[in-house]
Amino acid sequence: MIHRSFLPALAMLGGLLPLWAQPAQAGNGHVASLAAQAGWLLALAAAALWLQSRRQHRQARATVQDACLGLLEFDLPRRHMRGSVHTLQRLLGMPAHTRDMDFPRWLLLLHPEDRPRFAQVLELPPHMPEAGHEFRVRHYSGHWEWLELTLQPAWRAGKVHRLTAICRIVTARKHDEAAMLRREQQFRTLVENSEDIIARYDLELHCLFINRSVSRFSDLPLEDHLGKTPREKGWTDEASTRFEQECRQLINNWEARSFELELFRDRQRHTFEIRLFPEFDSAGMLKSILSVDREVTASRQGERLLAEENAVLEMIAGNRPLAQTLEQICQMLESQQPESMCSIMLLDGDAQSLRFGAGLNLPPAYRKLVEQVAIGPSNGSCGTSAHWKRTIVVDDILNSPLWAHALDKVRPFDLRACWSVPIFSSDRRLLGTLASYYREPRSPTAEELALAHRSTHIVAIALQRHVHEKQLYHLATQDSLTELHNRRQFIELAGREFERGRRHPGPLAVMMMDLDHFKEINDRHGHAVGDAVIRHFAGLCRETLRASDLCGRLGGEEFAAVLPDTRPEDAMMVAERLRAAVAAAEVPAENGPLSYTVSIGVAERQPGENDIDEVLSRADKLLYQAKRDGRNRVVGAKPPAGSVSG
Ligand code: GH3
Ligand code: MG
Ligand code: MG
Repeated sequence: MIHRSFLPALAMLGGLLPLWAQPAQAGNGHVASLAAQAGWLLALAAAALWLQSRRQHRQARATVQDACLGLLEFDLPRRHMRGSVHTLQRLLGMPAHTRDMDFPRWLLLLHPEDRPRFAQVLELPPHMPEAGHEFRVRHYSGHWEWLELTLQPAWRAGKVHRLTAICRIVTARKHDEAAMLRREQQFRTLVENSEDIIARYDLELHCLFINRSVSRFSDLPLEDHLGKTPREKGWTDEASTRFEQECRQLINNWEARSFELELFRDRQRHTFEIRLFPEFDSAGMLKSILSVDREVTASRQGERLLAEENAVLEMIAGNRPLAQTLEQICQMLESQQPESMCSIMLLDGDAQSLRFGAGLNLPPAYRKLVEQVAIGPSNGSCGTSAHWKRTIVVDDILNSPLWAHALDKVRPFDLRACWSVPIFSSDRRLLGTLASYYREPRSPTAEELALAHRSTHIVAIALQRHVHEKQLYHLATQDSLTELHNRRQFIELAGREFERGRRHPGPLAVMMMDLDHFKEINDRHGHAVGDAVIRHFAGLCRETLRASDLCGRLGGEEFAAVLPDTRPEDAMMVAERLRAAVAAAEVPAENGPLSYTVSIGVAERQPGENDIDEVLSRADKLLYQAKRDGRNRVVGAKPPAGSVSG
């Protein structure tokens, strides 16, 4: 192909040929005429080609201008740059007369950061066409424009001697890209510094990205998460299945999901609130799943603890049996500390030992072993804790001097760690100990210790409430002088005994007892001695009657007893024995030992009779009969033949 620039020369050469042919015509007319004709033809063809090429060139230039493209030519040997007017004037705002410049001047137009790169392109020009070079060039008005260059090398003598650069302004795109990059960087910064675990999964649930927050919960190096599904990363079957189900829902509905999962690390339970978001590509198709996982262990544990504490407090307020309440506290603690077994030991009456109070998850044989534990300076975790009244942590029972004395007995139970916290009343009296056992050697975390201390307060509330209840109950049901049932309690229990008799009929006897001439005792010896006599009589009642008999002080020096499953003649014998014991007894007093007597009326329940009052009233009548008959005697409905009179 002939280069466009040779065409004018070719046309001229064609035009000269006829001129050369005319002097030659004289010599050889035929040859000369042929040459002249060929010359004209050549000149015409060359001229036509030249015109066409100019037109194409103009068209190309117009296209370049319309497309906002520009042309720059770098003459490498001459180190000279020449630009189209359009490029320099329209794209870069240069004055019309600026068409060309040497390389150093051109480089000065470039952004300082981009100069070395462009200088390198000029030093080592590409051998093949190359697109994608981007540089900042100063616009004539002072601001920077981004130019994108596509470089076309031209060769001469085996070397690139010229670079033609098609260029266009891409400032807007570069700004967009920079803004996007900034946004991306901001997003990355947010993601990387987020407390949440942020991960991206493909639709087969392979991890595409995960931030470094995950390293708080996983030992896998960050890059080892990539390409793996949660199941492949070692999540439990339950957690993996739940995660897969939720992802499947998201894939089906393209809607965000939110749920909670429990994962374990070092046997510690971690609760995560997981939010899944669908991510779409530019065509609007679901392409990935973004998972934002927030650990909510502390707040969930707190909520659960609060609920469980409330349940325990309700049990306490509802007067549920103490053993049940204490067991519930152990369960509460165990649910907060997976794999622990908890127990509560209570201070025994002698204050020298602890007795087992609760802890059903401990092996039954072990519970038996610790039914009674001596308090001492090195007596296991609980005995020692009660002795020193402070928390005792034994992280390995098998290697602790505190357990050395009981090691042989304890070894078979495979218990390794035990820490014990003393339980105090509100006035700092020791009430017992609360212990956590583990099958592995371990020490408590600060949170676990705090939880144990918090729980001891609830145990203390339960224990104190129980004691108060017991005291209240005694106050309400016991006679404080004799510790026998008081009148109300006696009538209540006697009524129940009668009720029981209705379902299981059998003999039942009632005794009414009144001390004789008691007023005289009071008058002669004083009220305190009178009280002593009343207490003495109560003691004789307890000695004489069976444990299953009911005995109460109805008021003053008046007593009553219910003897279930007792025939009348047997009741008469019991009453007589009591009367005789009283008559034979002496109560120490200031003025010397003092004797007293009692009168007793004995009635029996009639068949079908269900009202205790009627029987009591009959016994009362018989008692007054005894008083009338001379006191110190027993009177029954059918008095036995040998009844003794005083
Ligand atoms: P009787 O043989 O007829 O039963 O004569 P009595 O003197 O026992 O007569 P009564 O039962 O009427 O008197 C009871 C007395 O017991 C009246 C009261 O002063 C006295 N008393 C009542 N409660 C107490 C108490 O708690 N302590 C003392 N020391 N005396 C009491
Ligand atoms: Mg009396
Ligand atoms: Mg009386």
